[in-house]
Amino acid sequence: MLQQARQVLEKYYGYPSFREGQESIIARILDGTDVLGIMPTGGGKSICYQIPALLLPGVTLVISPLISLMKDQIDTLESMGVAATFINSSLTGSEVSKRLARAGRGEYKMIYIAPERLESDRFLSMLQDLSVAMVAIDEAHCISSWGHDFRPSYRAITSLLRELPNRPRVAAFTATATPEVISDITSYLGIGDGEVFLTGFNRENLKFSVIKGENKKDYLLRYVNENKDQAGIVYAATRKDVDNLYEFLRKKGIAAGKYHAGLSDTERKEAQERFIFDDIRVMVASNAFGMGIDKSNVRYVIHYNMPRNMEAYYQEAGRAGRDGEPGECLLLFSPQDILIQKFLIEQTQLDPDRKANEYKKLQAMTDYCHTPRCLRQHILRYFGEQAPDECGNCSHCNDDLQVTDLTVDAQKIFSCIYRMKERYGSTLVSQVLKGSKSKKVLQFGFDRLPTYGIMKQYTEKEIVDLINALIAEGYISLTEGQYPVLRLQARASRVLKGEEPVLQKLRISRKPEPVRDD
Ligand code: ADP
Ligand code: ZN
Repeated sequence: MLQQARQVLEKYYGYPSFREGQESIIARILDGTDVLGIMPTGGGKSICYQIPALLLPGVTLVISPLISLMKDQIDTLESMGVAATFINSSLTGSEVSKRLARAGRGEYKMIYIAPERLESDRFLSMLQDLSVAMVAIDEAHCISSWGHDFRPSYRAITSLLRELPNRPRVAAFTATATPEVISDITSYLGIGDGEVFLTGFNRENLKFSVIKGENKKDYLLRYVNENKDQAGIVYAATRKDVDNLYEFLRKKGIAAGKYHAGLSDTERKEAQERFIFDDIRVMVASNAFGMGIDKSNVRYVIHYNMPRNMEAYYQEAGRAGRDGEPGECLLLFSPQDILIQKFLIEQTQLDPDRKANEYKKLQAMTDYCHTPRCLRQHILRYFGEQAPDECGNCSHCNDDLQVTDLTVDAQKIFSCIYRMKERYGSTLVSQVLKGSKSKKVLQFGFDRLPTYGIMKQYTEKEIVDLINALIAEGYISLTEGQYPVLRLQARASRVLKGEEPVLQKLRISRKPEPVRDD
């Protein structure tokens, strides 16, 4: 069967070989096993269910949430000579019946179905007569309330599987890989632990950089000017920021467009099209931009603000270099970004459990901005993939790094946190270490602590940076919530006892290089 799968790949899609992971997923599906495939956006999920759909007898139902994408997928399949159709709310009742009747006669290999349809018992009973080989579920994280895009109608998939006379095999796909989401998907759909395939998260052609301590606007303008002929996306946290940056770039003579949820459909559509056709070079956008945009020659993605979690970051940054040519992903970090995200989390109506979860994810994102280690490694490990210690293609691997023994400074920081009874955040701790005479320090009597002023030689900001690096390395944890408190981890007490050194690769002060080598 796998042999046939390769033939279909060549014949219908014109590709010589499967990508890493595709083959093993397809093999399991053809074996009759239920699987969950986790692949990043652009990783090639569609082929994983389309090829088995073509090979298996009967029809495959594809559950997909985006009506606009459905139409594109069907057009592509039809142009390849594959009989496929879709059923969603844009069709009349009689058109739906007509399509299902044709499906009953075995005229389609695939039917794309909007999840909302499954909530209708009448619709489910209409599916009874079909010979369904497989149910493929796109964007499967929508089934999980832990995911970033929970859609209650996805839960109706379980009714679908129950109602069908012969339980078809299930192949679910998502780009989200957090453990909570994965276990939600597998338990809802009854997929075994051994049938979860996580692959292809590494995008070798992308270079990752975190830029700190720069004037963001100057940096952005310089970068955009130096890459004038290239297409790029600049993501900002709020609509207001999008508007401001857009105006700013336009005033500087840059062919920029803007996109956010506050614009009319027409405005957004126009901006999107002008960007796709290279009429505008830089798209300044909120996170509303991107779902379903397939522009392959985006050369850079700049995050003007830190996004809310790694999933969002990797998905947005991953829009660079989809053609396989080099792409750059820059994150312009400032501590203010954390406050914005906390504010946004507090604004939500989430229950306490999920709010805590959002804070946890935000912390992993913050750690990415503070880690002195390889950025690619941080990303891949977050998603559960193996990664070497150095990738050679991120700002941290490319910089001149020096291994420094930070044991003594770390001990000073840990013992100060300890003496302040692990009840305060990094600002106050760094003030005490610096020997600041701030009102709060004096009011609490922290100027009488033995750790007061023992790191005088540093600026408060440098101490905060050090604390952040120690958090990113797991020596210190932060409590969740709006005003996090520093807590020492087991690792820190080993350092305090002199049982373990703190060695870090630190960046030698040097301006980051905005220019690409080519
Ligand atoms: P996803 O749904 O995971 O975002 P797609 O299925 O749309 O990704 O695939 C992304 C792109 O990669 C498409 O242009 C697709 O044709 C291409 N692609 C997928 N599999 C292969 C392969 N084995 N060889 C070459 N290109 C592939
Ligand atoms: Zn690296």
